[in-house]
Amino acid sequence: MTMPISATAAVLHAPDAPFSLETIQLGELRPNELLVDIHATGLCHTDLLPRLPALGERLVPLVLGHEGAGVVIEVGSAVSSIKPGDHVLLSFDSCGVCERCRADDPAYCRHFRAINLTGQRLDGSVAALDRHGIPVANRWFGQSSFATLAIATERNTVAIDPSLPLEVLAPLGCGLQTGAGAVLNEMKPRPGQSIAVLGVGAVGLAAVMAAGIAEAATIVAVDRHASRLELAARLGATAQVFGDTGELRKAIAGDGPGLDFVLDTTGAPEVIRAGVAALRPHGRAILVGAGASPVSFHPSELTGVTIGYILEGSANPKRFLPELVAHWRAGRFPIERLIASYPLADIGAAETDMLAGHVAKPVLVTR
Ligand SMILES: [Zn+2]
Ligand SMILES: [Zn+2]
Repeated sequence: MTMPISATAAVLHAPDAPFSLETIQLGELRPNELLVDIHATGLCHTDLLPRLPALGERLVPLVLGHEGAGVVIEVGSAVSSIKPGDHVLLSFDSCGVCERCRADDPAYCRHFRAINLTGQRLDGSVAALDRHGIPVANRWFGQSSFATLAIATERNTVAIDPSLPLEVLAPLGCGLQTGAGAVLNEMKPRPGQSIAVLGVGAVGLAAVMAAGIAEAATIVAVDRHASRLELAARLGATAQVFGDTGELRKAIAGDGPGLDFVLDTTGAPEVIRAGVAALRPHGRAILVGAGASPVSFHPSELTGVTIGYILEGSANPKRFLPELVAHWRAGRFPIERLIASYPLADIGAAETDMLAGHVAKPVLVTR
């Protein structure tokens, strides 16, 4: 194929602007890159970070999207593990050469922010132009998959069985990997242990399902939306707590000795404090809410507990996404119950519905 080629993409021109569907021209593939015909892409809350003026103003014009799924059209000269025709899920990108990447720990790549959250390559370049010839940032998470075609890299691309439904599995690449990985890669609960999940949007619901896979005996879901709590119950939560309950800590922990694990997806300081207070000694709190505000604790409030912020479920997507696909195939990770599909042109409605709590995981379909 001769580059450049045209794609239709949802472009963000200003932090408060609606997404604009327009034609962009994709540039030449670098040796480690590949061109993917995008079939579907999940919408994740991280895609809305550039709506914060302080971040977004520096990045636009920008194509977001980082839960892409599609079929590989062409690969760069250095790509050996992926070939044209492969059906693939796209995930976060990593540099491959830093200390953490060499230790097989790509979620903590020292260049994570620069590679995933700027829309540019590490050298500051982008790989698209708009119809006026103005550069468009299209390296968001090394993919920018709110488009009919996307350029990904060998490192953030995972091949899957071509018989599997791309529009169902697309969201594995970030949000569901984050929630499931927090449980299966970090907490590793033993059968019979207890966990509270604070905020049961897509990330929290993935954690609820993963806690079920790990055979946790107590799975407490906390949220402000009754519909999400009902869905959490159908997916395995054993107790539901309204997030605006007065004594949240007591509602989470009951009269027992406290929980083994708490996962916070809300980023809300008071919710995090209540969750940490609900831990038993030697309990562990994991935080994943992006854009969270500072939380303060008196040291004595952390007696015997540990607390930490993690990225991308501490996963290596090359291994973890196939694991999640296997759980989905076995019926243990029924992500289709979280999903509502929208044509790419309706990305504005998808955004509104997700923010209103009507839909846990919108998937934008481009084929
Ligand atoms: Zn790295
Ligand atoms: Zn994400």
